[in-house]
Amino acid sequence: MAIIWPYPSSPSSYVSAGQQVVVPPQRCPACQRWLVGWGGYWRWLRAPLLIERIWIRRARCSACRRSHALLPDLVLVRRLDAVEVIGRGLASKLTSELGLRPIAEQFDVPPTTLRAWWQRFRVWSSRMLAQCTALAVALVGTAVDVSVGVAPERAALDVLRVAWRRAVARFGEGIGSPWSFWSRISGGQALGTHTTSPWAPGAGADWMAPSPLGGPAP
Ligand SMILES: [Zn+2]
Repeated sequence: MAIIWPYPSSPSSYVSAGQQVVVPPQRCPACQRWLVGWGGYWRWLRAPLLIERIWIRRARCSACRRSHALLPDLVLVRRLDAVEVIGRGLASKLTSELGLRPIAEQFDVPPTTLRAWWQRFRVWSSRMLAQCTALAVALVGTAVDVSVGVAPERAALDVLRVAWRRAVARFGEGIGSPWSFWSRISGGQALGTHTTSPWAPGAGADWMAPSPLGGPAP
């Protein structure tokens, strides 16, 4: 299982840190005990003007003995590309008149990659819409207007932005970009290929903790 933590800087600085990357202490998602370091592994990261291996720390719970990959919110689980590129590519697909191929060219990714993102995004868009709406309401306590007649994919993107803006208004700029926010609230599974929904109740519920921002929203 992956735990997504807020990384405050750029992909290139994460690359430069190598195996020295500092991850804030994390709690076990099952029993809330603090996790202890449990090695790590290399994975690839593709970001604008960069394709490099990055070090992903692992940590283990001494009580449940389960280990977890500690992924920075620069990425999604099992996706090569930076979440920023994935999110902006999908937003472009949703809001521009362009086809997949020119958008893929614009973001410098293979068209098959963009198509794969799009397919997963479509699969989860209704759940994403529900999850982001619930989060946006929890953050401020007022309803969210979802435009009638808009496709669920577009509505999901719109409500993600609403939830993100509300989180920034409440907790400040430390929330990061809409796309790293998207990674955190989905537990890194926003484009997951699992049969269970990444947007199931509780997924990414600890999206703020244990960052210095003060823990999860009440
Ligand atoms: Zn545990």
